[in-house]
Amino acid sequence: MEFFKETSSQSQEMDKDDLPLYQDSTLSVAESSLLVMAFAVRHKLSGIALEDMLELIHFHCPKPNNCITELKEFQLFFQALKHPILKHFYCPNMICKVYTGTSPPESGANCTVCGTLLSCSCYFIEIPILEQLKTILSRKFFALI
Ligand SMILES: [Zn+2]
Repeated sequence: MEFFKETSSQSQEMDKDDLPLYQDSTLSVAESSLLVMAFAVRHKLSGIALEDMLELIHFHCPKPNNCITELKEFQLFFQALKHPILKHFYCPNMICKVYTGTSPPESGANCTVCGTLLSCSCYFIEIPILEQLKTILSRKFFALI
């Protein structure tokens, strides 16, 4: 998925996650982001579609609001999660594509099957949705429902 590129900078707004999406909203920024990500993964949205959807949500919420509208900010949110996205690395050879595990390949390491130089940029992601939902559902808001 193209929108999961590495970002070296850390967000200075990680406290924003627990804020309500807008005043009197029952949904926090973190809860909203998780639901959006679940939708994006379920329907295989492209990075552009995801960014457009973030904009769309922003336009539908009362102003001012804490909506995440930029893809980069959205990525940073998921990198800082309590149960972060897990990367699974594989061989970059288009024919081989053998799974190499969850640890990034060491510099200069080759595929044990085809000998191709392994790359840290060849991976797919696992989002531990179940763990995230457990965290959300354990919050007091959901205990009131
Ligand atoms: Zn290989």
